[in-house]
Amino acid sequence: MKPSHPTVNLPASKTPAQLDQAIVWHPYSSITNPASAYLVERAENCKLHLADGRQLVDGMSSWWSVIHGYNHPVLNQALRDQIEDFSHVMFGGLTHRPAIELCQKLVEITPQGLDKVFLSDSGSVAVEVAMKMALQYWQGKGKPDKTKFACLRGGYHGDTLGAMSVCDPITGMHKLFSQTLQKQHFIEKPHCKFHEDCSEHDLQDARTLLRNNHQHIAALILEPVVQGAGGMYFYSPDYLKQLKMLCEEFHILLIADEIATGFGRTGKLFACEHAGISPDILCLGKAMTGGYMTLAATLCSPSVADGVCSSGSGAFMHGPTFMGNALACAVALASIKLLLESNWQTKVLHIEKQLDRLLSPAATMSGVHEVRVLGAIGVIELDEAVDMAIIQPLFVDAGIWVRPFGNLVYVMPPFIIDDNSLEYLGSSLLDVLGRYLANI
Ligand SMILES: *Cc1c(COP(=O)(O)O)cnc(C)c1O
Repeated sequence: MKPSHPTVNLPASKTPAQLDQAIVWHPYSSITNPASAYLVERAENCKLHLADGRQLVDGMSSWWSVIHGYNHPVLNQALRDQIEDFSHVMFGGLTHRPAIELCQKLVEITPQGLDKVFLSDSGSVAVEVAMKMALQYWQGKGKPDKTKFACLRGGYHGDTLGAMSVCDPITGMHKLFSQTLQKQHFIEKPHCKFHEDCSEHDLQDARTLLRNNHQHIAALILEPVVQGAGGMYFYSPDYLKQLKMLCEEFHILLIADEIATGFGRTGKLFACEHAGISPDILCLGKAMTGGYMTLAATLCSPSVADGVCSSGSGAFMHGPTFMGNALACAVALASIKLLLESNWQTKVLHIEKQLDRLLSPAATMSGVHEVRVLGAIGVIELDEAVDMAIIQPLFVDAGIWVRPFGNLVYVMPPFIIDDNSLEYLGSSLLDVLGRYLANI
């Protein structure tokens, strides 16, 4: 019998929602003063069905990932088929077709020159892997002093310690840990916006920083063109192109974190394509499995791989237990095939047009700073942070799932969303926002 413990007191009479509040931790939340979470019973296509019978049109794609919508028959079947063979085997000394075919597909569709693939469990780990690759590369090249990273202000790369160190120190949500984190080199957030060119002046801060510190910098890490959780900001592809050239000039590797932008979200299959560049190292995650399983990948060029494997004992020193999980690989492969066989680019551009039309009127509301849309991403930036306790129930009552953070109210619906649902999402969002802003 388990010893009884005075603080464990969970009577069976509690509802699932009460149990959730008592014992289940949610992202970036307090468990001693918990906010309520909505109980999902079923999800299908672009709709979430709550236990209380309400239906919500999904504006979030479950944080960029569910691009084909929920409960997709093709993805369901891919998992069923794989489960009948095996779900997982260790990746040390063993391999399998789902992993091989997935890696081959990733090499084929990602920007040119990224030929080697390291699979891992989540986006943050893929970033850790990328950072370790960069460090081992310079060890292999006889430059062990290159131990620091350059990064952009406004960037977000994950929640583990290494990844946190390259997130924006203020908007990155990790201020509390600043004493523990490695000190990295931060470049000003790019001023030139998506449709603008990038002048020498825009590049000044990056050039100065890289010129003065390149002996110590292993790599520059950035989210190409779209900064996600650090501010939902779209910057000039020209800036990215110029940064890539600076990296070459100063012998610094470029790590592109496409965990959020990969697989079509910005209107290109990968956001690097807006600038026509190939990074030395690329991180993928989120939409890779269509939001079904957690899986991430770090790709690198043969030259980076050579450097990495001429350091130390010749091995890359990372190997997660669930590396290459067969279920995750099988559903990722099915999701990528589904994407490539769909006319995704037309759909994303159509969503872009609709979001532009539906959200633009918000620009004239008092309290709205800017409205911007790129690909299947629509952002309304407010002057002040929203009060989640007020606005979240308003969205749910209106029948839409939108989850703002800080002063950013944004949507990035599944690519398969139909016109009626998209119209409903956009008009309800504006209606709620208008009422919210009028009453604060
Ligand atoms: C979400 C995200 C990560 C972290 O991925 P997790 O799977 O949450 O660990 C890293 N980089 C970017 C750009 C992201 O959007």
